[in-house]
Amino acid sequence: MVNVMVARIAVNGFGTIGKRVARAVRLQDDMEIVGVTKTRPTYEARLANREGFPLYVADSAKISEFREQGIQVEGSLSDLLTKVDLVVDCTPEGRGAENKKLYEEAGVKAIFQGGEEHEVSNLSFNAFASYDQAYGRKFARVVSCNTTGLIRTLYPLDRMFRIEEVFAAIIRRGADPAESKGSALNAVEPSLHVPTHHGLDVRTVMPGLKISTMAAKVPTTNMHVHCIYARLKKQGVTTSDVLSLWDQMPRIKFVSGKHGIRTSGQIMEIARDLGRHGGDFAETIVWEDGTHVDGSTLYYYQAVHQESDVIPENIDCIRSMMEIEKDASKSIRKTDRSLGLV
Ligand code: NAD
Repeated sequence: MVNVMVARIAVNGFGTIGKRVARAVRLQDDMEIVGVTKTRPTYEARLANREGFPLYVADSAKISEFREQGIQVEGSLSDLLTKVDLVVDCTPEGRGAENKKLYEEAGVKAIFQGGEEHEVSNLSFNAFASYDQAYGRKFARVVSCNTTGLIRTLYPLDRMFRIEEVFAAIIRRGADPAESKGSALNAVEPSLHVPTHHGLDVRTVMPGLKISTMAAKVPTTNMHVHCIYARLKKQGVTTSDVLSLWDQMPRIKFVSGKHGIRTSGQIMEIARDLGRHGGDFAETIVWEDGTHVDGSTLYYYQAVHQESDVIPENIDCIRSMMEIEKDASKSIRKTDRSLGLV
């Protein structure tokens, strides 16, 4: 058992996901941010200074470059790794697997993100489904934004009504708002490698689930939208049974076309209206009036805010790996309260 009152955390890669993880850790009373890293002296390095996150440079040879630009730096990634219990690797896709040996050498635990393969840690994490398996582990991977969104609605459905088979069509945002690739496309780009990897990724967390997926990228930065068809084994399930089940779950919220919410852009506007930090919406958003059971087949639409839905999962994953809280539901409640997901 790791005996820590407050887990000491590093975030390697203070980008889209990393800065959100760092801010979320800062809101917890059982973990603290010891430092974050950047590779280049960009705007986000200055932001780390401005927000008071101790900044470390991934490559020690570049420290002087940061200092010459007036950016305060505490040391290198290797220095940071000597001061922490766990590092949340938020570096770009594929980089985490390369970093793993650094973490092993430093003897620190690590959480990887969905851009890495399942094999990087052999434990793919979602707080509903794999909290217990992550307890005390050295390495885990928080699954991607799409996979997180799919598991949030499918996991309770499977527990309660048993799923025979699922098909999901994933309409993917072309890029994150701060990126320029993809979003400039005036086109729809189907993923030609079918079925897509998303279904396989869901199975890293729900191994028995018969799921297949297809995907297409569209020119928007506002969320992913999933069109889901699920055949249920349990007979006689109604639309209202499904909605009541999801209504009891944390991290699932409803919107309704009847109330004028018909697009992902409008959901992002709600997040801003609610005063959510950065306009983030970390819950999975289901269209209540786009959910329908016909015989044993359930149809529904949901939207996923790609930049934020994995953030609460990272916090729960830390709590489980650091053996701070044994009970998944207590951790989820604590995380959600701290992040204002109520
Ligand atoms: P990003 O490009 O926004 O941020 C990556 C950060 O890592 C940047 O600050 C960059 O400077 C830094 N970096 C680059 N190389 C580095 C290195 N060698 N060492 C240390 N830092 C380095 O990327 P992101 O969107 O935050 O993605 C990070 C991970 O999260 C990826 O695995 C991605 O697949 C996953 N993810 C992304 C999203 C999303 O929509 N953006 C959603 C869920 C999961």
